[in-house]
Amino acid sequence: MKLSKIDLMKNRPVVISGPCSAETREQLVSTCEALASTGKVNVIRAGIWKPRTRPGSFEGVGSSGLEWMQEVKNKTGLPFAVEVANFNHVFNALKYKVDILWIGARTTVNPFAVQEIADALKGVDATVFVKNPINPDLELWIGAFERLNGAGITKLAAVHRGFGSYGKSKYRNEPQWQIPIELKRRFPDLPIICDPSHICGNRVCIPQVSQRALDLDFDGLMIESHISPDDAWSDKNQQLTPDALENLLDGLVLRQPDPQSADASHTLESLRNEINEIDDELLQVLSARMKVADKIGAYKKKNGITILQTNRWNDIIDKTMAVGGKLGLSRKFLERFLKSVHQESINHQNEVMNRLEKVSS
Ligand code: PEP
Ligand code: MN
Repeated sequence: MKLSKIDLMKNRPVVISGPCSAETREQLVSTCEALASTGKVNVIRAGIWKPRTRPGSFEGVGSSGLEWMQEVKNKTGLPFAVEVANFNHVFNALKYKVDILWIGARTTVNPFAVQEIADALKGVDATVFVKNPINPDLELWIGAFERLNGAGITKLAAVHRGFGSYGKSKYRNEPQWQIPIELKRRFPDLPIICDPSHICGNRVCIPQVSQRALDLDFDGLMIESHISPDDAWSDKNQQLTPDALENLLDGLVLRQPDPQSADASHTLESLRNEINEIDDELLQVLSARMKVADKIGAYKKKNGITILQTNRWNDIIDKTMAVGGKLGLSRKFLERFLKSVHQESINHQNEVMNRLEKVSS
């Protein structure tokens, strides 16, 4: 992927804030002026066209909001970001000189829509942020960057807004941090911004998710703010007043990605060596476990026994949860770990049991 620096993002962390939706001229201007006067916001955001899950909700004010945006830009001197989802949105956003276009989670899921936006941007020196698709599919997210890159757009950044899941969760959208971390590993020069508002869906957990993002070395935060959140026409539970946003930003700790002194660097290196050795041991132990699984597979084959015995598996789960819990390992981790080890063990047994016998001539 060919990427170039985004000047509007030279602050670290870059802070992007503004209402979920532009509702009225007064609401947009008063919110953005209050945000600008904190001196802590680098970019203003607002939804002008709103993709809503169900029809009948507020779907955005449309292009008239772009005139209010121009007034806000003149008053605050800050750049402005707007969501676009089709050719028409891009056309209008460019006409009104929107500084940053972002592709929302419901659009990133659709390669046709992303391609339409990329085609509309051919030959334009645009800055585009791409929110992760609603479903946890890293390749689909990367595909959107590739489509934009294919149209010559190099000023790109990712926005991590969490992933949808069915059923109850403490988050509106599960963060699944391993996905943005993997994106960062594959594209180290692609800036990543976290959107704690859409991850949390409520005001309470926004500080905690924001701090986590900074500790994971994200490049910025996008947080929704409204002059009167309880009256907001969309996402009212997850918007902060400009004052509350300022408090939140003041409370965040910005740590350095690299150790700053020889002493710190030495300590970190020796701890990392310790981890490396433990990882080696873990691999040896896991490999030994799979060798035993191979022997079990051979035994079951000889005696005509099925691979899976549900009772035995339940015993392992119960025992591991009890022991692992006492050792300070979380239930969620133990569940994932066990499932993965069990699957590998079954694969080994399956391989032994169903290996084609060599035909001897
Ligand atoms: C938004 O930023 O207001 C929005 C609609 O976000 P998402 O696409 O992440 O749901
Ligand atoms: Mn929103």
